[in-house]
Amino acid sequence: MTSETSGLARRLLAAMAPLIFAGVAAAHAPAPAVVPAADGKSSSASAAAPASKGRKQAEDATLALIDGAARLASAAPGQRGRLLAEVLELARTRRDGLAGIIESEPEAVLRVALPVEARAALPAEATPFLEQEADEEGDIEVLHVDFPDSLDYYQYHLLTARGRLSLNYASNAPVLLTGTRVRVHGVRVGDALALADGATTTAATTAAMPNTLGAQRTLAILVNWSDAPTQPFSVAQAQSVIFSTTSNYDYEASYQQTWLTGDVAGWFTIAATSTTCDYWSIASQAKQKAAAAGYALSNYSRFVYVFPSNACGWWGMGTVGGSPSEAWIHTRYGFVLQVVGHEMGHNLGLYHSHSLDCGSAALAASGCAAAEYGDYFDLMGNGGNTPHYNAFQKERLGWLNAGVSPPITTVTPQAGTRTFTIAPTERARDASPRALKIARSDACTASKDWFYVEARQPVGFDAFVASNPNVLTGVLLHKVTEGNPDSSYLLDLTPATSAWTDPALPAGQSFTDATLGLTITPVSVGSSGATINVTYAGGSCARAAPAVTLTPTGTRWSSAGAGVGYTVTVTNKDGCGCASSAFDVRASAPTGWSATSARTATVAPGASTSTSIVVTSPAAAATGFYTFPLAASNASAPTSSTSASTTIALATASSIALRVATDKSTYVLPAKRNTTMNALITTTVTSSGSGVPGVLATVRVTDARGSVTTLTGTTGATGSVVVSYPMRAKTSPTGTYSVTSSATVGTTAVSSGASFAVQ
Ligand SMILES: [Zn+2]
Repeated sequence: MTSETSGLARRLLAAMAPLIFAGVAAAHAPAPAVVPAADGKSSSASAAAPASKGRKQAEDATLALIDGAARLASAAPGQRGRLLAEVLELARTRRDGLAGIIESEPEAVLRVALPVEARAALPAEATPFLEQEADEEGDIEVLHVDFPDSLDYYQYHLLTARGRLSLNYASNAPVLLTGTRVRVHGVRVGDALALADGATTTAATTAAMPNTLGAQRTLAILVNWSDAPTQPFSVAQAQSVIFSTTSNYDYEASYQQTWLTGDVAGWFTIAATSTTCDYWSIASQAKQKAAAAGYALSNYSRFVYVFPSNACGWWGMGTVGGSPSEAWIHTRYGFVLQVVGHEMGHNLGLYHSHSLDCGSAALAASGCAAAEYGDYFDLMGNGGNTPHYNAFQKERLGWLNAGVSPPITTVTPQAGTRTFTIAPTERARDASPRALKIARSDACTASKDWFYVEARQPVGFDAFVASNPNVLTGVLLHKVTEGNPDSSYLLDLTPATSAWTDPALPAGQSFTDATLGLTITPVSVGSSGATINVTYAGGSCARAAPAVTLTPTGTRWSSAGAGVGYTVTVTNKDGCGCASSAFDVRASAPTGWSATSARTATVAPGASTSTSIVVTSPAAAATGFYTFPLAASNASAPTSSTSASTTIALATASSIALRVATDKSTYVLPAKRNTTMNALITTTVTSSGSGVPGVLATVRVTDARGSVTTLTGTTGATGSVVVSYPMRAKTSPTGTYSVTSSATVGTTAVSSGASFAVQ
């Protein structure tokens, strides 16, 4: 806390939330989707993550700020100075908290980002502490950081004319190459942006990957530390690892089309110690030293920084694409092809090669767990060997299925059985196909999956499969989603065994995918390749869950009792064999809320339709952030259903009001003994001007002698309740009586007073 904090603000803040939101320590360690288990298989972490502590604190800080601003707006002049200081401290603390979690939980920042109206209601002095809606343009930098323990992550920056911004994607980061010109729209806190789905647009459509063929001009720079100027390997060793081993790997895997040329510079001792880890500084100092030593940096399109052990926890890091591309090799974890070839794979534009574990099945509609590095038969996975990149990755590089590269045979749905042959992956370039690319979905389905089938033999860098009878006599299957470069999933075609070292589908066995009634059967597999039968059932209706989008997106700001409207767009993703369908749209709003439901028009497979629904919170709902799903299900096949999450923020507790009034201002006691008369006391509770029913009002009447009577009642449909206060002749004192009525709506306590005279 800063020293100028007032005592009151200090107490208020202490009550509100810890000063720094949770999550700061976890920045850069995204929640892993998959927890590797001891047997080499993997298990999935819970899909529905509970609200994190950091998110809850961001919500509380946001509501506290809005509440503080409302109190300031209605404060008496004498209190304004103190309340303004409080509001500014709330704004400052919230800003620091958001800055602390924006990298680890950008979704929480987007969730609480204040809408324009809320920002306008804050005092102008708070503006410097508020997040901003930002539109920025620049070149994106995509870095991948590889950890030995799978805590890997991608890091995104935008290089703009005004500086370098970190880009933090709440979900679905765009799959782009370093150097791509992009525009982003998001919420900015300091030099960091939080970005939602679809927040990044590129100027140009994605072209074929550049710079993946021919000689790759590479400068490897060896650097060490001012406190530990060790040289754990020689320049000759570096030459060998990079310009022999890694270059030979590229040459073989690319079918003799890609190799590395260039130089090794260094050793250089840079102004950094072994107890730090600043990759940006390592890169810039390495380049400065090399330039000073006479290397013309413009001669190279790839830089590789190689250094001995320091405080970095990762074994390597690489830009995904980029010209020049950059790779960092932390040799504490080895100066070997497994690291250099992997990072330079990122440099070429590759993402990781994953595995997908669906338990007792090779593939299932749900319940599958992905392992980030789980493909042990691809250098972009992590099996400890030196495998070729898989056929999908090679196709992305243009090393297959482009130019003079060996082809891939595309198999589209066609009823009946067809037979195809492929040559082994490793064989030198010729015109034989090296993989089958088999359609898993038909032309009606917007998002297309493919199965890639390839055959490995113990040749060259794949020599290690010599000891693997499963791979030698079977074919590898990968599942890939069209248009998504980060979607390579190795499947386990021997799900009965727990190992990932035997994923191949053995010759003579079949894999059937229900979606299109597709069956893949390797008939024979050997040193000359594989013969594979592919069968589509044909004529069947392959149901698929629809796609759902909500408009508007993001947190919807509202007040208790108000309705919030959504336009729900549903895309029918059924296969072409299915008849048109309508979709039922429903909200699973919180208990006590109400929501309309709707059925869409009937649309053909592949087509989209929209409808709208309204979700209404109860007038007595507490302030807070409410998250719930909206689901669309196929009216013809209700289990084909997809839900989208939405959040409504109720932030207007200050609009809750209570009025109390008596039916007369003066009561005259009856003359006759033992006669009772009543004062009728009406309490009305409103939210944004509308009556709030169902609220318990507590009415305390203090008579002219100071005796207190407490009466209670619950408000009715109009938000009002009448209680009767009895007075008796000769018994009740004359004089002034006071009335206080109080109630709590959600978390907001409100009260008001009145008085009457008795004669
Ligand atoms: Zn990696």
